Amino acid sequence: MKPYIRLVVLLFAMSFLFFAMTPTSFAASQTITAQITSNSTTGFLLSMNWSAVTGVDHYNVHTANDPNVTSADTLWATVTTNSLNQTMTSTVGYRYFRVYAYDSAGALLAYSNVVGVAKYTSGLVVKMKQDSALTSTYPDPAGSPNPTYYQKPVWFITVDSTIRNSNVAPNFQMGEFISQTSLTSALVDPKLVEHCQNARNRYGVMVVNSGYRTPAYNQSLGGATYSRHMYGDAVDIDANTQSEYDALVNVFAPENPDYVEPYSLGGYNHYHGDWRYEAKGYQNW
Ligand SMILES: [Zn+2]
Repeated sequence: MKPYIRLVVLLFAMSFLFFAMTPTSFAASQTITAQITSNSTTGFLLSMNWSAVTGVDHYNVHTANDPNVTSADTLWATVTTNSLNQTMTSTVGYRYFRVYAYDSAGALLAYSNVVGVAKYTSGLVVKMKQDSALTSTYPDPAGSPNPTYYQKPVWFITVDSTIRNSNVAPNFQMGEFISQTSLTSALVDPKLVEHCQNARNRYGVMVVNSGYRTPAYNQSLGGATYSRHMYGDAVDIDANTQSEYDALVNVFAPENPDYVEPYSLGGYNHYHGDWRYEAKGYQNW
């Protein structure tokens, strides 16, 4: 066989292999870009849109409590337009969505990227985003007390001044849990907020002195390497006397914190509670 013929045969074989090995998940010939179009300060409203697909009959929007959404997850909506405004349930947590486009014969034409939101007790719905630079600053879960609960966060809430000033619960604004004023990515766990509001209902006015901390900020404060403040499910509340501290321990006790720091360890000025092992039912990695 002449060398150039050998080359042609080789190229043909390689291209055949390429197509034969292309996974069926890539069968969709178009891609969809989806986005959350606006935050919602009340009412648990989800607003999203996506790029239109040629030849589409309908779009199915699937949802899950973790970012790995597939068409096997809950079917959230079926629509013929390329946008969706729909009220979610009032259960707090992180929710993720992916759009699938089908033709009239039911063939999959395209599917989208994943979009996510965090929803809070007040009905506030906040866009989530990935922030790989921030993720990379988190410590390795392998050295943590329990790697299952210390995964590096991949998705964060998107913070701006409007969100900081929005109520996450009847008596708390988002900004109270995010002391670093320059942050545009943060974690304020929706269940943590619920616990704080419940405790506040028993106690009266309480002042949050620390909520979310980036790993760098936590380190600058001399915080624990695996401090739960970095994962968004720890809170420090001002307590200026032993009796204030004891009262806070009592009003938070029904919320079953996994760890309560002794008053002396915290420097005799605050109550620290965190929910590091809580079965939250949602995740952000
Ligand atoms: Zn603390």
